[in-house]
Amino acid sequence: MMSRDYPFETGVYRPPSEGGSASLLVRFTRNCPWNHCTFCTMYKGKKFNLRSLEEIKSDINAMANLMSDLQAESKALGHGGLVTREAILALLEKAPGLNYHPGADMLIQWMAAGGKTAFLQDGNSMIMPPQDFIEALTYLKQTFPSIERITTYARARTLAQRSLGDLKAIRAAGLDRLHLGLETGDDALLKQIKKGVTADGLIEGGRKAMEAGFQVSEYWMPGLGGKAMTDQHAENTARVLSEINPHYIRSRPFRPARGTSMYDQFKQGQIIMLDPREQLLELRRMIQNLNVTSKVCFDHMGNYWRTASGDLVFHHGYEGYQFPDEKQKVLDRIELGLAFKQEVVRFRHM
Ligand code: SF4
Repeated sequence: MMSRDYPFETGVYRPPSEGGSASLLVRFTRNCPWNHCTFCTMYKGKKFNLRSLEEIKSDINAMANLMSDLQAESKALGHGGLVTREAILALLEKAPGLNYHPGADMLIQWMAAGGKTAFLQDGNSMIMPPQDFIEALTYLKQTFPSIERITTYARARTLAQRSLGDLKAIRAAGLDRLHLGLETGDDALLKQIKKGVTADGLIEGGRKAMEAGFQVSEYWMPGLGGKAMTDQHAENTARVLSEINPHYIRSRPFRPARGTSMYDQFKQGQIIMLDPREQLLELRRMIQNLNVTSKVCFDHMGNYWRTASGDLVFHHGYEGYQFPDEKQKVLDRIELGLAFKQEVVRFRHM
């Protein structure tokens, strides 16, 4: 085997539910084409780029080369192509540059986990011209036939702008799940955070994704409106999510992150954060108004509230609580949280 350097890019971000399942991270675009949301740090200061089909295919080829070289080392050692420590060390000896490769560890973990899922990076892959997207997806699936599920981030606004026919064609080409940052369903708050979309746009984009056959995961941010907007944030978020009725609804409680304009507003006293009890009251109002058949998930450490017995109010499983069957259970858990004096959790950046 010739020594190779396996040139492919790996971005920083993927949803936690994609790390747990050891997804292959494939970078279809760089950074976020919108990049104005006032709470978001993810791609700040980084310029958005579309990547050409040639670049994406070249990355996929480099990943495939790394995979086949590792399998060859494994076979030579009599390990049948399996990912073993010895096979990895043998490959590292021939390709020492892999020690510093930002994506090699990710690819090897993905192989070791069975090579079943892939996540397309970065912030809004749907911005790609649909035909290019379809061709890149098809190439990815052909190159790695073990992949059973492909997911990505998308913006509701872009989904609303795409034709249903294009979305269906992308779905048919193998994209299974979309992760959408809804944040809030309240128009005034959407404007304040510069989300670049209205509640109607969120509904249109979310529904279109559902109609095209995607599995849809919507993320909202409890506490995003602070004390001033808590009621309207809870009620309108429940209304919008009820209209979309996605497969998954995921809670990502708001915390002002250093370096964002919301952090400055918070420091200047323009946003008054909810205390833990008020957060639970907002959650109760949102959940009470939520009429969905979705799975509602609290799969993030920001959902930190505890009951008097010391356990978490909500479990952090990726599959969450099935609504409407478990809606009452979630409401009962909130009551347990409200009955207990919550500690204020201080985060480093606050
Ligand atoms: S669209 Fe998403 S990634 Fe882009 S700035 Fe807003 S929250 Fe951040």
